[in-house]
Amino acid sequence: MSTIIRYPSLKEGGVSVLHRSLIVAIDGPAGVGKSTTAKRLAERLGYAYLDTGALYRAVAWKVNAAGIDPSNVSEIETLLSATTLQLNSHDQILSIFIDSHEVGQELRSLPISQLASSLAAIPRVRDWLLPVQRDFGAKGGVVAEGRDMGTRVFPHADVKFFLDAEVDIRTSRRHREIEKEETGQNWAEVRQSIVDRDARDRSRSVAPLVPASDAMVIDTSSLSVDEVVDRMLNVIHTRL
Ligand code: C5P
Repeated sequence: MSTIIRYPSLKEGGVSVLHRSLIVAIDGPAGVGKSTTAKRLAERLGYAYLDTGALYRAVAWKVNAAGIDPSNVSEIETLLSATTLQLNSHDQILSIFIDSHEVGQELRSLPISQLASSLAAIPRVRDWLLPVQRDFGAKGGVVAEGRDMGTRVFPHADVKFFLDAEVDIRTSRRHREIEKEETGQNWAEVRQSIVDRDARDRSRSVAPLVPASDAMVIDTSSLSVDEVVDRMLNVIHTRL
């Protein structure tokens, strides 16, 4: 069902030469800056970067393309049983191929965000994506970000972080990001989408968005990405 290709990316020198290859789990709500932070942290460590939200978005892309109603769980199950997902990771770039079709920017639209969040509440969808994520992290040397990295996918992760920030701050961050993508969404629409997705992610019965009991919670409201990454590196270096 899935193929994972991971090229070794540990570099010589600096912080990249590590005593062992850790799994670093980062969770948090929409718009908190997980992707930027996780990617930068992975770069600093010379680790692979796993954006698990993109996997849910890839499933949403396929369900949408097939015209399936997201409440029709049995049709979604049938669709997934005939679907392949391949991940290719090189230098912190994660390429996703669904049925050999590479998906990228088309995963970032508002309808796909909303559909991904609805599908993420379906246990069979989560179960289908579980081995893909675990296979990717099997060798360690990975920074994985999402909603349930520390609680379900990698409960034995070496280091766990949970990022949070006030909703208006998250909205502004996300809005700035998508302005570049010219999706035409205004600030209020982005805020509503974040509020809706958070409510769904926090209240679902399987793998709800919640900090793992052993996660370090970082309020990023008044911190830059580099400040967050530096804090994380301080903790990570105590675990090597
Ligand atoms: O992180 P991103 O916004 O790309 O995630 C899209 C959606 O996928 C989220 O709103 C969430 O519902 C779902 N998701 C999840 N578990 C993850 C990653 C993402 O439920 N580990």
